[in-house]
Amino acid sequence: MVSKARLLLGLLLGIVPTLGAAPEPAAPRPAPRPPNLLLFMVDTLRADVLGCYGNERIRTPEIDALAAEGTVFVHANAPVPATRPSIASLMTGVPADVHGVFSHQHVLSGQVAGLPRLAERLAARGYTTAALVANPNVDRVFGFARGFDHYEGLYETRHGRRPATSRDLVSDAAVVVSRARALIAELEPRRPWFLFVLAIDPHAPYTPPAPFDRIYNPLLAGSKLGKMSAVLDFDQRLKEGENPSPLAMRTLYEGEVSFVDREFGRLLGKLRESGELDHTLVVLTADHGEEFAEHGHRGHGKTLYEETTRVPLILRHPRWFRHAVRRERVDLLDLSATLLAVAGAQVPAFWTGRDLRGPLGQRSVVSSNHFGEYSSIAIRRGNLKLIKDDTSGAVEVFDLEADPAEKSPLRGDALEAARATLAARLDAYRKQVAALKAKLARTAVESEDEPVPEGIEKTLESLGYVGGKKR
Ligand SMILES: [Zn+2]
Repeated sequence: MVSKARLLLGLLLGIVPTLGAAPEPAAPRPAPRPPNLLLFMVDTLRADVLGCYGNERIRTPEIDALAAEGTVFVHANAPVPATRPSIASLMTGVPADVHGVFSHQHVLSGQVAGLPRLAERLAARGYTTAALVANPNVDRVFGFARGFDHYEGLYETRHGRRPATSRDLVSDAAVVVSRARALIAELEPRRPWFLFVLAIDPHAPYTPPAPFDRIYNPLLAGSKLGKMSAVLDFDQRLKEGENPSPLAMRTLYEGEVSFVDREFGRLLGKLRESGELDHTLVVLTADHGEEFAEHGHRGHGKTLYEETTRVPLILRHPRWFRHAVRRERVDLLDLSATLLAVAGAQVPAFWTGRDLRGPLGQRSVVSSNHFGEYSSIAIRRGNLKLIKDDTSGAVEVFDLEADPAEKSPLRGDALEAARATLAARLDAYRKQVAALKAKLARTAVESEDEPVPEGIEKTLESLGYVGGKKR
């Protein structure tokens, strides 16, 4: 028997007497809430224009500050150097060779059966899922909204306003970030959220707002040299074998980068103010890069040189992604797997991406491209990279350490040795893709089956896509 006095004393001291029985199990502590996930993707952002990736001229203080507190993946690649296929891979966790969305004729619709989506998996884990996209190439009509509670295209035509210039057809980063800030304020604070933000500023036309049009060259104030008509004229001259200077366009592109950097800082400011920053995994990346005649082309979706496929990848979280610089070869498929793993959601067994928190070791990273007349595949392993042009059959191998600009393909014995190793890896990749495709038995759907609203068509044209195709 336990006396009343002893019981009272026990209660006062916070000690529950055992009464001779087995102790009560302690109440389970609530599982910690999974972190919010902010995925900020900058369309067409090359890694090498950022200060934290070694650029000493272009000013990107906000992204550099994120890098100073987070983990920088130095060698990150896009699976495809084009918006729709690259984001399709990010959202499905599989290479474009599997999901089949390569060009602007393909849509990622519900008919791509058997492919779980990143957002669906997060929603099943209890996340509120939202997307704000400023590139109509991933509009909901192309099948990208599945799994999102909220999916919003930020193109002026969709808001019913009459655009003043072609540039106004898509919203700039100031509009996108203001919308993102407002959305974060509206989100239910007790549920974790996943917010995918796609800003489009560095994409052609290269027309940064003042003062970013003149920060790297005062003579470019108000310049028309980055307008779509000038860009397409430049492309035509390249095609005709001329050697036009890309300097003005490139400088205006850099102005766009600094502009989007400032706006990204405004978005992080919102998380800091609300005390959510340390409860959020912040990711900054890009869907692909941009070439400025380094290898005879401008834009993206044409070649697989590093200027079009090497993207920034920075993750910040006070527990999992503290300040570090990692040099393993990674790609956006690894990011898909990481977002699910960090959230405690189930990563599909057939995904090839790896959790970026863990060791990654030596691995091969593949990019592929099938876009109109352009068709090629690239594989990187260690310092070596092989690019095979499917149309001409030409194969080039580069040592990216010795020749990061990919100007001097290997020759002789060095070429033969490297080619044998990489070709074997590429064969293994192709077998893996074929097996997965057979398993999933999916097909990409021609966009002719899905009428594209006129507003979207017009906006795509303003970005240099004609009839849905890239010129
Ligand atoms: Zn893009």
